Amino acid sequence: MTKPVFRFAPSPNGRLHLGHAYSALLNADFARRFEGRLLLRIEDIDITRCRPEFEEAIYEDLAWLGLRWEEPVRRQSEHFGDYRAAFRTLKGRGVAYPCFCSRKDIAEAVACREAETGRAWPHDPDGAPLYPGTCRNLSAVEIEPRIAAGERHAWRFDMAALKKLLPGPHGYHRFDCDGHEERMAADPWRWGDAVIVRKDTPTSYHLSVVVDDTLQGVTHVVRGQDLEAATDLHVLLQVLLGLPTPLYHHHGLVLDPEGDKLAKSRQSQALAELRAAGATPQAIRQRLGF
Ligand code: GLU
Repeated sequence: MTKPVFRFAPSPNGRLHLGHAYSALLNADFARRFEGRLLLRIEDIDITRCRPEFEEAIYEDLAWLGLRWEEPVRRQSEHFGDYRAAFRTLKGRGVAYPCFCSRKDIAEAVACREAETGRAWPHDPDGAPLYPGTCRNLSAVEIEPRIAAGERHAWRFDMAALKKLLPGPHGYHRFDCDGHEERMAADPWRWGDAVIVRKDTPTSYHLSVVVDDTLQGVTHVVRGQDLEAATDLHVLLQVLLGLPTPLYHHHGLVLDPEGDKLAKSRQSQALAELRAAGATPQAIRQRLGF
């Protein structure tokens, strides 16, 4: 029987904090219990925010925690060709369109709709307003010169077209520490016309994560609950691209003393700082319940 494959997939855009340590240790713990393999993936598609020194620090912090992973490590920035190929496939299915809107354009269109209807505009699970559809029905005559002139654009899913093509029901199986599996319903439509290729990089988190999980043979995805809703979109991408759907486990998040989610952007205490203050890997493991 082939071994289960787990992966920890941090982004090198800051130092790792306790939340990352929990996710990495949980992946390692699952891999040990299920006699599986543990991979590490560096999610560095965001070339403006990711830095080599943060990547080095990831290896250092994880090794300090006592984790081991297989080499070579997959770095997403070295595989844009794989994401481009996947994008060509989904574009070929006629379910994506270019979008020239800025965040400001979207905010203005949404404010306008709210004023017209007197009703609050719906938001996606990450709290962003659903795309109001400004570029959804642009004709080729309108699109082509703008692209030819080098106008920056993203690519979005046309969810109405997708819903016709793949009505579902969609779903996946989640698993727990005892190996129990449970079917979960997925509702990708609540994301609206999600961005599938960003303006600033030839892919998106969603596209690269499903491509990589397949190419790396990942069978078990263990990640935070903050990504649970994204799984609904990942399942749709997998169906569309003919990729297998792994099993998922979305773990609870490590919270700070105020009850907020830890975040690099909020300067949550980095593992490096805890280490400098004298914490041992054993103390961190214990604090996180391992
Ligand atoms: N790179 C993502 C993060 O650091 C995790 C992606 C995943 O596990 O699917 O939040």
